[in-house]
Amino acid sequence: MMPTQLVNQDNHANDVRVKTVYSGGVMITYIKHNITLDEFTQEMVAMCRFPPDQVFTMKWVDEEGDPCTISTQLELDEALRLYELNRDSELTVHVFPNVPPAPGMPCAGEDRSIYRRGARRWRKLYRVNGHIFQAKRFNRRAFCAFCQDRIWGLGRQGFKCIQCKLLVHKKCHKLVQKPCSNEHVDPVEVKDDANGESTLGRASSVRSRAEPEPPLPETPPAPAPPAPVRPEDLEPGSQRQYSLEDFELIRVIGRGSYAKVLMVELKRTKRVYAMKVIKKALVTDDEDIDWVQTEKHVFETASNHPFLVGLHSCFQTPSRLFFVIEFVRGGDLMFHMQRQRRLPEEHARFYAAEISLALHFLHERGVIYRDLKLDNVLLDHEGHIKLTDYGMCKEGVRPGDTTSTFCGTPNYIAPEILRGEEYGFSVDWWALGVLTYEMLAGRSPFDIAQAADNPDQNTEDYLFQVILEKTIRIPRSLSVKAASVLKGFLNKNPVERLGCGENGFLDIVNHPFFKSIEWEMLEQKQVVPPFKPRLEGERDLANFPPEFTDEPVHLTPDNDTVIADIDQSEFEGFEYVNPLLMSLEDCV
Ligand code: ADP
Ligand code: MG
Repeated sequence: MMPTQLVNQDNHANDVRVKTVYSGGVMITYIKHNITLDEFTQEMVAMCRFPPDQVFTMKWVDEEGDPCTISTQLELDEALRLYELNRDSELTVHVFPNVPPAPGMPCAGEDRSIYRRGARRWRKLYRVNGHIFQAKRFNRRAFCAFCQDRIWGLGRQGFKCIQCKLLVHKKCHKLVQKPCSNEHVDPVEVKDDANGESTLGRASSVRSRAEPEPPLPETPPAPAPPAPVRPEDLEPGSQRQYSLEDFELIRVIGRGSYAKVLMVELKRTKRVYAMKVIKKALVTDDEDIDWVQTEKHVFETASNHPFLVGLHSCFQTPSRLFFVIEFVRGGDLMFHMQRQRRLPEEHARFYAAEISLALHFLHERGVIYRDLKLDNVLLDHEGHIKLTDYGMCKEGVRPGDTTSTFCGTPNYIAPEILRGEEYGFSVDWWALGVLTYEMLAGRSPFDIAQAADNPDQNTEDYLFQVILEKTIRIPRSLSVKAASVLKGFLNKNPVERLGCGENGFLDIVNHPFFKSIEWEMLEQKQVVPPFKPRLEGERDLANFPPEFTDEPVHLTPDNDTVIADIDQSEFEGFEYVNPLLMSLEDCV
């Protein structure tokens, strides 16, 4: 395991917490917001214990998971500015003891897989008469600029122009004749398509989401009308039963693009759980709270399957949402792959088969998972897999149904999503192909050796082009059956892809690569996993990266100005207690 050291923790409330990752381990330090490049460089030299003549490269990781070089004061200032904007808890800096052969190329020892890449949703934009409309839900009083009627809050009935902020009904947006008055507020890049629907280009999508919006014209300080009653408010068992006080926060164990995950103990029973914490401000920034409801529903569904992480309870504070879920002790596959480089076929087969069963279970219940990747696959204490993170799921999909949201984690996004086509369950089998390739080859199918020579080829757009166009090369060291299953899943045509034909899942079950799998035994956890995570005791955190477990575990106190911007009615009815787990607890 990598050595870690925690440097002077106290009295740094106003400083920037910097996590430095280098060959010797991970270090935490605090710097001033207005630090000079010189001071910053000296700090790094001291931390990494470099000799005075050591050449090295510093890169910080932006919110898209991309490494950005810090070699000038301007770049350092930009890193700190974006860190502030994202209200992130720390700035991650990787230090390499060498310089790249040319600007933009990776350093020796820099492997793309060292950066955990976050999942994202790209916003859908509608272009009419110079306006660029985005669907939005309004819980406060808002009126349509076209028909003058009220825009109701339920669903995404309102469209708002991201430039001039004009508000209209969804049904009225195509009729708007008044041209957009303010075309230059937000320099977004919009790709038009035939029906006027567009997806936002890469560079601007996340940035524009992270920037604080100017005050909305539709939100005068008048008291908000009572929120409409939603069906989930009426569900039995959704009465408030747990709160933060019921739990002791033990350690930070993970972070994703939206959440921080803690290991916690339910004080009453002393049972250990994982607690997924999401800041409401992030959800509101996204202008899309539906995914929170979806994540909750899918967690509920997942509680019935051995390879999915189940839900214990949900509750909220003014600033945050909490999902209390099963704690899965063996860590995620990203953690294990970073240590093992690549897996024997036997191991990869076992994981791929268990993941297939988990995906099939979700598909049968109308859920597309949409975010299969190494960091969302956890190992339990015996070594069985469990999928977690349902924040990208699409619910209510019947066989043959399709959807079109452009979302996912770049490296795993299926070609049909990139082509802007309607898609269905096929995207999950593509992602399983990417993940199985990573397990077997120790690298992504889309990491191209020469790409690094050209900075233009390090962009997301280039990655998308590769996914769409490049023929995937299978390492010659793999068996014929492994090569065949990878080609099956990584077929760029969803109609021909393994798992997507008429026989659906059966084609996977019967594939020669999975010949040795006894599927029924597997589903009942009767097959002994090929690898058992090393664990000493129930609370051992050896399988979680020290850069997380060394973080202070407390949640920062609520900030009044942040809370003032949150429309709490968006989160009504979030509370939940799983009746099954409750009765289990009563037995204790
Ligand atoms: P996000 O939605 O932000 O991606 P995730 O739900 O994926 O958040 O959680 C982030 C990380 O936390 C995961 O990659 C995993 O390492 C860890 N994690 C999540 N859920 C659990 C759990 N139930 N038990 C143990 N670790 C977990
Ligand atoms: Mg995740």
